[in-house]
Amino acid sequence: MIGPYQLHNNIHNTLWKQGNNMIPMVNLKAQYAEIKDEVEQGLAQTIENCSFILGPNVQAFEQETAAYLGVKHAIGVASGTDALHLALLAEGIGKGDEVITTAFTFIATAEAIKYVGAVPVFVDIDPRTFNIAPEAIINAITSRTKAVMPVHLFGQPADMEQIEQICQEHNLKLIEDCCQSFGASVGGKQTGSIGDAAGFSFFPSKNLGGFGDGGLVVTNSDTTAAKLKQLRNHGSNVRYYHEVIGYNSRLDEMQAVILRAKLKRIDQYNQGRRRVAHRYSELLAGLPLTTPLEDGLGVHVYHQYTLLSERRDEIMQALQAQQIACAVYYPVPLHQQVAFKEECEGLSLPVTETVAAQCFSLPICPYLSDGDIKTITDTIKAAL
Ligand SMILES: *Cc1c(COP(=O)(O)O)cnc(C)c1O
Repeated sequence: MIGPYQLHNNIHNTLWKQGNNMIPMVNLKAQYAEIKDEVEQGLAQTIENCSFILGPNVQAFEQETAAYLGVKHAIGVASGTDALHLALLAEGIGKGDEVITTAFTFIATAEAIKYVGAVPVFVDIDPRTFNIAPEAIINAITSRTKAVMPVHLFGQPADMEQIEQICQEHNLKLIEDCCQSFGASVGGKQTGSIGDAAGFSFFPSKNLGGFGDGGLVVTNSDTTAAKLKQLRNHGSNVRYYHEVIGYNSRLDEMQAVILRAKLKRIDQYNQGRRRVAHRYSELLAGLPLTTPLEDGLGVHVYHQYTLLSERRDEIMQALQAQQIACAVYYPVPLHQQVAFKEECEGLSLPVTETVAAQCFSLPICPYLSDGDIKTITDTIKAAL
């Protein structure tokens, strides 16, 4: 049997050593072929101009993403983790404050909360969407609660109508983790445009990914935006004059060149992901598996196509034997991580734990052919 840690290592192998699988989790090479000329031209120009830090492409990308997402401000930063960290700081979340979030996410969600000295309060999820359960948020509110941080996990927006209402009623900040949801919308609004602030990641495998690390914070608040511009640049507005202690966390100019080329095509990429997801669900219907549910509240952009099965390990072994990549996002929920041992001792989140024990994700990207999809679903059928 393949244990969770071994599977987890495979996730990273599939991303970092693309060539090893006949069908990879995400085909970044095919994507690059389409944008190669545009990217190479832009990069050459940047090198020629030597405008490497907060140059014209970062500025243009910030304007273009703000327009795309329907927000007043977009501020490029060094990663999605930094985006969440700086968003919390700019919103005044700090020492001893409680931030309600999900344990079924990548650790960066909760790391950001820890970085500002706040306490992550993990609550359970909806078993069908894997997103934070609004009722669980209500039950976890105390006098120390200052913010709620939902994650639009796997690209499906959380129930923002209810979450926004809870935050308004209890006077809580709402900070969205949009690291997996670029281009997803809910109630006619883009994810990231609903809360007080939101963080996006441009890690290479994300729906909008660079060729390295990158991130973005968005907000409609002028005050928050001004703080973020200071925080990402050593607490400074005017060079060598520092108002606060800040960070070195800027979106790289070269990454902005690449991201601008991909932003033009993001709707096409996300539609491609939806096509693949729908085809998978059609072909897997009727098998003893739980295929992902689109809850109809918003538009799912399938950062991951994640299923549940009690026979996960058998299925994954069969896929791997056919050189088909697959991965477990996430094998260990955050409340069971060693890093959170002290604060989460004895905490039980039954839905999260069941989902983590049964979930696995299939390759998904706009370049997966119908033939590949058929090969993958046939392999699963044969394994079951
Ligand atoms: C990727 C991710 C992050 C962190 O983004 P980085 O750019 O890798 O720092 C945070 N939260 C979630 C849910 C993510 O998927």
